[in-house]
Amino acid sequence: MESVQLAPSQSARETVRRLEKEAGTEVTLCYQCGKCAAGCPVAFAMDYTPRQVLRLLQLGLVDTALHADSVWLCVTCETCSTRCPRGVDIASLMDAVRREALAQGIVTDRKVAAFNEVFLSHVRRYGRLHEVGLTLEFNLKTRQPLKDAGLGLPMFSRGKVHLLPEVIRGQKQVQEIFERVKRMRGEEA
Ligand code: SF4
Ligand code: SF4
Repeated sequence: MESVQLAPSQSARETVRRLEKEAGTEVTLCYQCGKCAAGCPVAFAMDYTPRQVLRLLQLGLVDTALHADSVWLCVTCETCSTRCPRGVDIASLMDAVRREALAQGIVTDRKVAAFNEVFLSHVRRYGRLHEVGLTLEFNLKTRQPLKDAGLGLPMFSRGKVHLLPEVIRGQKQVQEIFERVKRMRGEEA
């Protein structure tokens, strides 16, 4: 007869603890009132609302949470964290789940992951975004190289975008922040 697992596995419990630590919050605080989901601007498009993501983590169903589209749809607006009567930092938890999914190679929405990667690489390199480079890199990564071709020239001729990136004065400090975060996560800087 097939066995049914009622309690979360040891590894699921450890992953939840790690996510809590990274997010600086505790999933057991949540009493499932649903205020977070009621205020979330993208809950209508999510497969699991923020309340349900919390419940998955409480039950140790980490794999389901890691595969949820919700974590990629979350725009980190922090409405949920602000509304939560129990002080659960749901936005931070969503971010931690997203990073864990990336680390495990689980990406349900490649476009969001590609945008995330290009966006952060620009902040790291220049300390700010370079719109032309970001659009080109994102479109190449997502295999739609000509997607914004019609917009580029008019914007360029009106001086709305620049061909070369500008680098901020404190760029070295920004890079140091990225390296510090890597070291904190036990990765090579
Ligand atoms: S608002 Fe807070 S307590 Fe209520 S369901 Fe969401 S996380 Fe849980
Ligand atoms: S931070 Fe994410 S989960 Fe929370 S309300 Fe905003 S979009 Fe929804």
